[in-house]
Amino acid sequence: MSAFTVIPSSRAALPPTRENRHLIGGSWRDSVDGATFERGSPSHGVVVSRSARGGATEAEAAIAAARTAFDDGHWSRISGKERASLLLKVADLIERNVERIALIETLESGKPITQARGEIAGAADLWRYAAALARTVAGDSHNALGEAILAVVLKEPIGVVSIITPWNFPFWILSQKLPFALAAGCTCVVKPSEMTPSTTVLLGELLIEGGLPAGVVNIVLGYGQPVGSTMTAHPAVDMVTFTGSTVVGRSIARTASDSLKKVALELGGKNPQVVFPDADIDGAADAVTFGVYFNVGQCCNSGSRIIVHEDIAADFTARVAALSSRVAFGDPLDPATQVGAIVTAEHNARIDGHVRAARAAGAEIVVGGDRLDVPGLGNQFYQPTVLRNVTSEMAIAREEVFGPVLTVLTFRTFDEAVTLANAADYGLSAGVWSDDAHTCLAFARQARAGTVWTNTWMDGFPEVTFGGVKQSGRGREIGRYGLEEFLEVKSLVMRVGRTRDPWVRAA
Ligand code: NAD
Repeated sequence: MSAFTVIPSSRAALPPTRENRHLIGGSWRDSVDGATFERGSPSHGVVVSRSARGGATEAEAAIAAARTAFDDGHWSRISGKERASLLLKVADLIERNVERIALIETLESGKPITQARGEIAGAADLWRYAAALARTVAGDSHNALGEAILAVVLKEPIGVVSIITPWNFPFWILSQKLPFALAAGCTCVVKPSEMTPSTTVLLGELLIEGGLPAGVVNIVLGYGQPVGSTMTAHPAVDMVTFTGSTVVGRSIARTASDSLKKVALELGGKNPQVVFPDADIDGAADAVTFGVYFNVGQCCNSGSRIIVHEDIAADFTARVAALSSRVAFGDPLDPATQVGAIVTAEHNARIDGHVRAARAAGAEIVVGGDRLDVPGLGNQFYQPTVLRNVTSEMAIAREEVFGPVLTVLTFRTFDEAVTLANAADYGLSAGVWSDDAHTCLAFARQARAGTVWTNTWMDGFPEVTFGGVKQSGRGREIGRYGLEEFLEVKSLVMRVGRTRDPWVRAA
């Protein structure tokens, strides 16, 4: 009998292969050269989608369509109320299509169907929140500059925005960006990951159904080269917003700097949770288990590094190991499944490589440490894995594994805990577990991270902004800062009356 809770294949009926095309200037198009690419399901092996494979030609056509749509003002210059009404319609359409979108999201990404349903429904709420923000775009007024002057600071849409997204939360991450860009009045070119193109296309269909003017949102399917790089380098693009790996984010920042366009980056993480002995240990153990296995650890916010006080480390680690074996790994289409498949066989091998290297460096496996066989579905799965005897010098304590792998470090003093928590190149999120509010606040203020959770993990709300520091990125998404990212500031200085002193002396 397996030491893990494994949900075998439910033998659910699978939909036929989807055919995806680019959305450019309001019409669905194949690539000019007819090229396509396929995405196979990581869990079920079948070809989920066949998509037009874009090149520079399609990327340039989409950028031109977005530029024309921005400059003609049919979206960029209408009222916030009109933009809000469209965004609300899209939110309703998303809600009506949760089931259809969630099924394709699950088959392309390998995530559990219940999680996919939650993400799609949650994304509808992001569209609603962005609709509310569309009516709040406002700058400042300066009425104390003297009687002869009135100045106002305007907020204007930044222009054409390239949106490049990853495979781990395809619909959700797109919804952290696109409705906020649209609320600001921007027009967009979107490139989903080549591994998960379909739900972005489904969203494109809903945008058309909702009545979005042609060219306001364009979708180009394909790979980073040449589609993503064209979207980054092109002078007609005013801003690039990217979520993905730190390596690609760095190259995007470099490429975009030639044209000095704005760049917003949401990148990787190696997120620590510090557990003090006075914490609610049951609550912390459950949240740590959730934080590391959610989305099979393929999550920028994965709580992949715990730093536990040495007095409780052995007990706490044993609790997390015991909970690990009760988490339901297996068929993503079974509603009982909590953790699904690894996105590709190559990535599964990479996760395994990280674990083997950690063992070779002296880490000890408490649980897991190998691929997981799911009856009827093969082994593109990975066991829930906990590693102890980890030191902060080891690669496993510093590098993003992007798999269901938890490393346990220990500390003695508060200062040591803060030093360990901050000893990573990343700074996306951090957590602290203690019943002492002073401990939590002191940690929260010293943690170098974009988000700090105290006595919870990964709670998020459309109202609360999100983003990283250090190598985890720049810029912010969601919340009101998520709207601000897509706004440019213009100062307007006005003289009241013909009161200006002449510069040239009278002859
Ligand atoms: P990735 O960087 O490989 O790819 C992301 C996107 O960039 C894809 O659409 C890809 O086609 C495109 N791309 C690749 N090369 C490009 C180039 N040269 N120019 C322009 N675009 C290019 O990332 P991934 O493997 O899809 O996603 C996993 C990574 O994303 C992890 O590192 C994870 O931490 C990060 N992530 C971060 C957040 C966050 O909010 N901070 C959220 C989710 C994922």
